[in-house]
This record gives sequence, C-alpha cells and structure tokens, in this order.
Amino acid sequence: MDPDQLFVKIANKEIPSQEVYSDEEFYAFRDINPGAPTHILVIPRRHIKRITDAGEEDALLLGRMILVANKIARQEGIAEDGFRYVINCNQNGGQSVYHIHLHILGGRPMAWPPG
Ligand code: AMP
Repeated sequence: MDPDQLFVKIANKEIPSQEVYSDEEFYAFRDINPGAPTHILVIPRRHIKRITDAGEEDALLLGRMILVANKIARQEGIAEDGFRYVINCNQNGGQSVYHIHLHILGGRPMAWPPG
C-alpha cells in the first residue's frame, strides 16, 4: 500500500481505527502510539500531503479543522486544563505519514521547547 494513502483508507474505514469524530470533511481517531494520555489525529478527507501543500482554496478547510479539534478537546475533557496542537512537516518536523493531520495531545503537562 502507498503509505501516503494510509490515512485516506482509515477515514474510509478500509483500515480499522478508534473513531473519535466524523463528518463530511474530517475524520478523527486515536493515535496508535500515543504520546500523551489523550492523543488524537484530525485529518481532512481530502488528500493533502503536507501542510505546505495547502493553498488558498484550503483556507476554510484548515480553519474548520481547528474548530473540529476544539470540539474534540472539549468532548475529551482536556480543554480546560490545556492541550497542544501539532502539525509536523517533512523530515525535520518529524512527519511520518504524508497526509495532513493535526495532533491533539493532552492529559498531562507538555514540555517546551518540544524535542
Ligand atoms: P507524524 O509523525 O506527524 O506524521 O504522525 C503520524 C502519526 O500517525 C504517529 O503519531 C503514528 O503513531 C500515527 N499512526 C500511524 N499509523 C497509525 C494507525 N494505523 N492508526 C492510528 N495512528 C497511526
């Protein structure tokens, strides 16, 4: 399988995942290798390889992705204590799956700067 298509297949339920949220535009699921007590990935159904490939036409999509993440953070009960959003890009950013995804990390204090 083309590893870039992994998250498209997850969103289409061709590969199992722990669903957290789903609508016409986005899918969210629990990270298989959590880096925090709450670790959720929000992905657009539309395949965009990396955040720098997003264009003007994706401005609303990216804005709505944050709003969906906010809704999930509240549902998960981590909004009040706080959490972190992360989008990794390319090699130095630590991107391993080339389909845009927003990490929601919470449930413990986060260190800064990140490793
Ligand atoms: P990144 O390194 O930013 O590209 O993040 C990719 C994330 O996807 C990592 O945190 C992985 O643990 C996670 N991941 C990879 N495969 C799966 C999967 N099948 N189900 C859930 N999460 C996954």
